[in-house]
Amino acid sequence: MYFSGLCRVYFLIYSICLWVVFGKASGSVREGFGSSRSLPEGFPKKPRNQSMENPKPYRTNIEGISKKPEKKSAKAYPGFLIQNKFFTLRIDIISVLPELLESSFSHSILKRAREKNLLEIFVHPLRNWAVNEYGQVDDYQYGGGAGMVMMCEPLANAIESLKKERDYEEIIFMSPDGELLNQPMANALSMKENLMIISGHYKGIDERIREHYITREISIGDYVLSGGELPAAVLTDAIGRLLPGVLNDETSALFDSFQDNLLAPPVYTRPADFKGWKVPEILLSGDPAKIAEWRYEASLRKTKEKRPGLLSD
Ligand code: SAH
Repeated sequence: MYFSGLCRVYFLIYSICLWVVFGKASGSVREGFGSSRSLPEGFPKKPRNQSMENPKPYRTNIEGISKKPEKKSAKAYPGFLIQNKFFTLRIDIISVLPELLESSFSHSILKRAREKNLLEIFVHPLRNWAVNEYGQVDDYQYGGGAGMVMMCEPLANAIESLKKERDYEEIIFMSPDGELLNQPMANALSMKENLMIISGHYKGIDERIREHYITREISIGDYVLSGGELPAAVLTDAIGRLLPGVLNDETSALFDSFQDNLLAPPVYTRPADFKGWKVPEILLSGDPAKIAEWRYEASLRKTKEKRPGLLSD
């Protein structure tokens, strides 16, 4: 009796301590959530997890800063749907390593494109169409030699099953011997509605798939990677950021490098004077016409210096 009475008293004291410690702590966190410091116009409010004692400056148009933690997206296998409403452009990617692609599309500008329902991306694991229960999608090459080749049957079945669902304007194979990806190509592809991208692996894919199904072959540069996933992600990113409405300022993609065969002008942010290195005076003038002229001149100068070949194209 005496013992259980003591227990009750201890439990009461323990509960009061918990209330004091955690109740107060959560109160102060809540206060922090609601407050913001005054920043110049256009700069966002203080992120939730930033302490008021030691606020860090951060920027609006640059991604990956002060974002809410990611919710884990659907498991990569057996295929993941990234967005499924009101799409402008749908991209289906066939890959033996879908996990490699998932995070490329879950951050930054492409994430925003999906959230705004302007871009739909589906990644299809090729092993869903494997020829046996071991998930086989590759085999030795005829004529001998090191390296496996991706088999016809799984690829043909994957492509045909997707084609049954919709018409694809292009079935693209990422390949080092394809056309070199450039800005005009990305611009043109961003006008399409349905694209399919095949990422190769090992030695590549059986030539007959290239001859009979592929409508376009694209390389991301004169070097060889171990798989087509990164090239597919590069192509998707280059296209996705161009979709109208994806970038905050819709015209900003137009001022990026390679549009109009010019490199982008230099850019600066606060502070105006860092270690005595000053931002060009004209950018602080507030005169849009003069700033535009300065930027054009700076673009021209940079292009002449770094990529003169662009000016003669
Ligand atoms: N044996 C091939 C390279 C195979 S690399 C050759 O010499 O041409 C395996 C896969 O990675 C390719 O099928 C392709 O899908 C992808 N890949 C590698 N480098 C690439 C690049 N620069 N551009 C696009 N895709 C690439």
